[in-house]
Amino acid sequence: MGADFLRKLLGPRAAPSPAVAEARAELDRLCRQRPTLSAPAALLHELLPDLVPEERPPPAPPLTAEHARTKRAGGVPLLRGESVSLDTGILRRRWLRVCAALARHGEPERARRLAAAVRRGSLGLDELVRAVLAGRPDEVYAWADALSLDPGLTATVLRLTLLPQLAAVHAVLAPLVQGLPWGRGSCPTCGSWPLLAEYRGLEQLRILRCGLCAAEWEVPRLLCPFCGNRDHRQLGYFSAEGEEGRYRAATCDACRGYVKAVATLGPLDVPGLLVADLATLHLDLAAADRGFSV
Ligand SMILES: [Zn+2]
Ligand SMILES: [Zn+2]
Repeated sequence: MGADFLRKLLGPRAAPSPAVAEARAELDRLCRQRPTLSAPAALLHELLPDLVPEERPPPAPPLTAEHARTKRAGGVPLLRGESVSLDTGILRRRWLRVCAALARHGEPERARRLAAAVRRGSLGLDELVRAVLAGRPDEVYAWADALSLDPGLTATVLRLTLLPQLAAVHAVLAPLVQGLPWGRGSCPTCGSWPLLAEYRGLEQLRILRCGLCAAEWEVPRLLCPFCGNRDHRQLGYFSAEGEEGRYRAATCDACRGYVKAVATLGPLDVPGLLVADLATLHLDLAAADRGFSV
């Protein structure tokens, strides 16, 4: 009887979208190849339907096309200095769902602490969003530290929590600057550093992708996104044996930064982006071993 009542209240559970179904199939393949990824893959498998761009985007900042073009030409991310009205109720619920899933998939204590910090209001999502969009992500780490939370996990949960709303905002704003060059290493919409790069299509264009708003922007092959270095003598790459054509990491000896890259046929959708990030986790570990960091 309880289940009937819930079904009437909530309606039948919607089938996952084709993008989510495809990403889940890729996760299954990944787990068969690398059983060590089974815990993070199970977490992502569960979360994926909640992480796609929202169908009803929050109101985008009222940017005119002219203002957007001026920002692009001046190297200013579109959302910098704008008031972005994200729905904090939705963010809070998603934060708690991500924490609950994390707790089920191997991080019970750290996830519960993250959930409790938002529930009791000691970690304010509004402030975190403002800091990230103002280009001060270090504040997220500082707040986490001050509350004895895991800073890396806090940043990851925040990114997953924001992604569906910010990806929807990005999709609304992107046409304003369609085709205009950017050329920088940070995201032209939200200002974050790239999550990874795609080497896309037959031309192997190098397209950086944002993990916070899913934006994409083309950059030269010889460019460190973090320090702007273009000196081929200081830029290199490495890959795991047998994966050279599929996954690699581009490194910079000047700033010791690195960015992962995956070969793609076309643009990765949001679920595909998250799966690609997980599929290249071994490159993050190898980069850290070699003294590179993001
Ligand atoms: Zn972004
Ligand atoms: Zn660099």
